Order: sequence, then structure tokens, then C-alpha cells
Amino acid sequence: MDAGTGVVGLIGHPVGHSKSPEMINRAFRACGLPFVYLAFDVPPSELGTAVSGMRALGFRGWNVTIPHKVAVLEYLDEVEETAREIGAVNTVVSRDGRLIGYNTDSEGYLRSLVDETGLELAGQKVLILGAGGAARAVAHALAVAGVESITIANRTREKAERLAESLSRKVDARAVSLSELERVVGETTLLLQTTSVGMYPETEAIPIDPSLLHDRMTVSDLIYRPRKTLLLREAEARGARIHGGLGMLLHQAALAFEKWMGKPAPVDVMREALEEAMK
Ligand code: NAP
Repeated sequence: MDAGTGVVGLIGHPVGHSKSPEMINRAFRACGLPFVYLAFDVPPSELGTAVSGMRALGFRGWNVTIPHKVAVLEYLDEVEETAREIGAVNTVVSRDGRLIGYNTDSEGYLRSLVDETGLELAGQKVLILGAGGAARAVAHALAVAGVESITIANRTREKAERLAESLSRKVDARAVSLSELERVVGETTLLLQTTSVGMYPETEAIPIDPSLLHDRMTVSDLIYRPRKTLLLREAEARGARIHGGLGMLLHQAALAFEKWMGKPAPVDVMREALEEAMK
């Protein structure tokens, strides 16, 4: 590092658990880029000050994580269309002094799903469990990718309804109650788990009655800790194809790198760094 070292980073609250510094600093080294990636714990009351500070200090860009993904929009000069439709930004790029917001969770999820499962998205009948921020990003990606239908079931039904409504211009979308799952699951070909149920340390929790899982579906869980949730274990035991959340984490970071640096990310190097950081 010298006086010419550029800075990118992460703002969130908390940020201590993030694997992005390992992945992205390894990518900078592998590409010989004079940049460093740092994580900053920014409480919500300091978000505006932090953005002004990063702007003043000439950051090339930064990632945004919980709880700032929505609130950060008001401090940006421009928000790219996908991020605007999702209503959340996870990557900011500073270009000619303007701060531009993107959402790479969305495309990152698709890349991971297609790379790891080879799934043909057209014609998929999707059931999404959950309607939070991550659900909005992946539902948008799947709607644009041309799946046949998206059904959303969430503990708070109004949130599922709002998400279905926002997708309905792009895809056949509807909300159902958790009590209606039994009726819907039989025809589901892609079950997408986006709630925090089953995440470490509650690893024995499962968001759906496992007896409803079947071998005509792919089950995708956004949780990456543990890498194989109880839901994925139950799905695998019933002959379903399974997909975990680690690839989404990798690809959203790779896409952010590409936006900041204007060149392809060394994905294999980043995957190796992520695998090591997960140990
Ligand atoms: P969020 O906005 O807080 O949404 C949480 C969702 O989980 C909501 O739908 C919530 O339902 C539901 N939920 C929480 N506790 C529940 C319970 N006990 N029973 C039923 N439903 C429950 O969080 P998020 O940002 O969308 O993240 C959700 C999950 O995705 C987390 O596990 C996170 O680790 C994972 N994620 C992974 C990646 C990745 O790169 N792989 C990226 C982003 C997120 P209500 O609406 O009823 O509260």
C-alpha cells in the first residue's frame, strides 16, 4: 500500500461477520490492482455522514448491507433501474463524482443458480418462502428471467401481497398464506427459501413441512451458514435437486468488483478466499 492506494469498502451495522473483505482484497491482489477493501460499522444515525465522508475521501465505491440497503437510496445521485425496482441498493459506484446505486444480489443469485444447477428458467413454477429484502431481489431476477409463475408465501401476508403486486407487470405472480402451501407445493418446480429460518445458530429450524418436498423440484436456500440447511438436507433426502446460498454471496461480490474496476472479477480466486473464510 502506498499514497496512491484506492479504497472501496462496506457499510453495515454490524459488519464483523462479513466475508467480503477476504474475497475482494484477494481479488485485488490477484489482479495486481492498487486497492484495498475495508468494512465500516455505521449505525443508522450516521449513514448520511458516512456517505458524505466516503464521497469526500474519494472512495471508488462501496457495498451496502443490513440495515442500510433501503435508506442509502436517498443519499445517491442516481439509482440504476433494477435497484430502483427492487427498492434496495447493495453496491455504490462513484463515477465522475456522482454516486450511482446498483443491486448485484439479484443478478448474483441468478448466476449462482444457473451455474450450479444448470436449471432452465423458462417454464419454472416458483414458490418463494419469505418476502423480505432478499426475496425482493431474487424474485425480481426470476421474473425478468422469464419463469412461468411466482407464488409468494410469507409469515406477514401483506408483505407477500405487496411483492406479488410489484412483480405482476412482469410475471404471473400471486401471494398465498402459509396454510395454503400444501395446495401449491405439488406443482412447484423451484422452491426458493428466503427467510432467516434455519440460519445459524437455529440450524434445526425448517420453514416448511418437509413431507411436502418432492423429487420434481429444485430447492434453493439463500442461507449460507450452515452451507446445507435442514431444508436442503430434507429436500435432498426426498430426491430434490438442491442449491445453497454461498454462490449468491460470491457472485454478488464478483459483480460489485466488476462495476468498480470495469474488468472481469477473478471468480475462482474469490471462491477460494470465501471457502477459506467460511472454515
Ligand atoms: P429480511 O428483509 O429481514 O426478511 C426476513 C424474512 O424472513 C421475512 O420474510 C420474514 O417474515 C421471514 N422470517 C423471519 N423469521 C421468521 C420466522 N421465525 N418464521 C417465518 N418467517 C420468518 O432479511 P433478508 O435480507 O431478506 O434476508 C433473509 C435471509 O436471506 C437471511 O437468512 C440472509 O442470510 C439470507 N441472505 C443471503 C444472501 C446470500 O448472498 N446468500 C443475501 C441476502 C440474504 P416477516 O415478513 O413475516 O417478518
